[in-house]
Amino acid sequence: MGLLSEGSPLSWEETKALAQHVREHGIQQFINLYHRLKDRQGDVLKWGDEVEYVIVKFDEQNRVARVSLKAQSLLAKLNEKEMADPQGVKSLWRPEYGAYMIEGTPGKPFGGLMAHFNLVEANMRYRRQEVTELLDKDECVMSITNFPRLGCPEFTHPIYNPNPEDPNGSAKSLYFPDEAIFPGHPRFKTLTRNIRMRRGEKVAIKLKVFKDENTKLPVEGSPVNEPDVVLLDAMGFGMGCCCLQLTFQACNITEARTLYDQLAPLCPIMLALTAASPIYRGYLTESDCRWNVISSSVDCRTQEERGLKPLKENKFRIAKSRYDSIDSYLSPEGDQYNDVPLTYDQQVYENLLDGGIDHLLAQHVAHLFIRDTVSLFSEKVHQNDEEDTDHFENIQSTNWQTMRFKPPPPNSSIGWRVEFRPCEAQISDFENAALVCFVVLLTRVILSYQLNFLIPISKVDENMQRAQKRDACRKEKFWFRKNVRKTQKTNGYTNGSAANGANGAAVHQNGSVVTTNGTEANNGEAKMQIGGTNGYHHNSDLEDEYELMSIGEIFNGKADGFPGLVPLIRSYLQSMEVDTDTHCTIEQYLRFIERRASGELVTTATWMREQVLKHPDYKKDSIVSDSINYDILKKIEAIQKGNLIEPTLLGQGNHTKTKDFIPMAIQKHLNVCCESI
Ligand code: ADP
Ligand code: MG
Ligand code: MG
Ligand code: MG
Ligand code: MG
Repeated sequence: MGLLSEGSPLSWEETKALAQHVREHGIQQFINLYHRLKDRQGDVLKWGDEVEYVIVKFDEQNRVARVSLKAQSLLAKLNEKEMADPQGVKSLWRPEYGAYMIEGTPGKPFGGLMAHFNLVEANMRYRRQEVTELLDKDECVMSITNFPRLGCPEFTHPIYNPNPEDPNGSAKSLYFPDEAIFPGHPRFKTLTRNIRMRRGEKVAIKLKVFKDENTKLPVEGSPVNEPDVVLLDAMGFGMGCCCLQLTFQACNITEARTLYDQLAPLCPIMLALTAASPIYRGYLTESDCRWNVISSSVDCRTQEERGLKPLKENKFRIAKSRYDSIDSYLSPEGDQYNDVPLTYDQQVYENLLDGGIDHLLAQHVAHLFIRDTVSLFSEKVHQNDEEDTDHFENIQSTNWQTMRFKPPPPNSSIGWRVEFRPCEAQISDFENAALVCFVVLLTRVILSYQLNFLIPISKVDENMQRAQKRDACRKEKFWFRKNVRKTQKTNGYTNGSAANGANGAAVHQNGSVVTTNGTEANNGEAKMQIGGTNGYHHNSDLEDEYELMSIGEIFNGKADGFPGLVPLIRSYLQSMEVDTDTHCTIEQYLRFIERRASGELVTTATWMREQVLKHPDYKKDSIVSDSINYDILKKIEAIQKGNLIEPTLLGQGNHTKTKDFIPMAIQKHLNVCCESI
């Protein structure tokens, strides 16, 4: 999101009363923007990351680490440069949920040159340096997914105690004081209050404790009859986590829909690979990832909607929180894999169809719009639906899903974009850069080789749960497509009737949008049309399309011919002209991913668990005490500075040739990796 616009938030009662107003106008705004922008063509590849950080303060004398609630004053300084030179800055800084969090992105998106892959790590390093210069000596900016003792007594600096009885409190948490919510913009506290009020009770995040020899049950604060559950009761436990996201621009809406779909099955896979958060409220848990935590932390569904009571006040049973994995594919090829019943209001769906939106996009938007607004500002209630998109964005931006389909903003040069949102934040810039470059390269391979990763949505959902289990990266298996080369499929794309939904309208009239670069995979085979001819498969037909694979097999390939994601990228790169330094950098990223996927290197989550288990102060009771927390964070500080090499995490040190700018000699050489039409 851009700089958050200021305004006065309405009360929950006022907001609730306007839910239908926001919905109706949001839908109309989407229809209007769609018609303005659906034929937009020729946008080039641009992409950029978002890294979220925690500011940690060390009390060296007492060996305690706390989160430092200084994001607001820090941002004021960080944003000065942007105000002075909005186009020229190398980084942009934005608030996040926590008063101890900041989000950094590159000043401008990276582009379609291969050499851009050599810039991202240097830019991330610059960002870290820029913040570090503004911090006190005993503070550190860290890209950690979760602060291990978030919600423990006195976890903030300055220290605030929670005040659950405060009649004006936003979270009313027993553990997470409102002072830890970013105070500089009303959005965050408003969302906290409204989500709690809509739900009718505090949010309840449940994590199984990791049971060790001396673990005491019941765990402090556990729910009745669930003694082994670590209970977290505030939005801050989830939205106060950090993640790594990336956004890329497609050449047109069709390509955006294809990439949205193709990356969706990769979300749980990348979540497992990047698992980095095994500790919550000072307890080792059975989970390695933040996903379910953040999902529950903003679960505004009522008891009726969650199926605990018969429907009376509410309209639908709703299967998932508004923060969760996607529920449907958007491209015609994806349609046959849409096997999860989608909840939506028939009238909203029909209005979208009447507005000229095709079935797949209409059901996607209608499904997003089952959610009520949970944050509305008085200045934004009345809008011009011909031009404004705030009501659409209101609902869109509070559907926090694994993938986000982003339409071009009004009056901008920005095209259709897709956001990839599952990854956990990693300790080092090297790791974060490696992951971002890997995913962006994968999008190029998908387009060039016309790869197909689609499996039924229900299997993607299953993978999401597997991905979060302790040590899933090494121990779990995931549903994955056996044959990812679309062109080898003998049927399914060219025969069958158009099953495009109720209105029978053909979707995606335009055909192929990907470009050929003459690699062997395309090898003269006839390209399939992207649209309009999708055949319908019964689920039983699809069953032999996928099987269970380990993370190692998915990334590195299998003896039976499954190529593996890393070898696919390597083969693509062979056909590209890449300068030596960029090649060296990318090769280190691929090596790293290969080794983590094979289990030779461990995930951040596994490394953190090991730090606890082997710590001399650890009492085998699942508790991560202040001193253990302090030592882990001190190690993380040393790792990110390059002062400590942890071979199991990163191997014997990584030295990429990442750069701050593209050398002139390479710039002249138009070395384009995305020949978008
Ligand atoms: P949000 O918080 O809404 O997901 P941000 O603005 O924080 O979005 O971050 C979006 C990312 O997209 C940034 O890395 C930015 O550099 C990048 N970006 C900006 N413009 C484009 C564009 N036209 N195409 C692709 N990515 C872009
Ligand atoms: Mg952002
Ligand atoms: Mg955001
Ligand atoms: Mg963010
Ligand atoms: Mg984002």
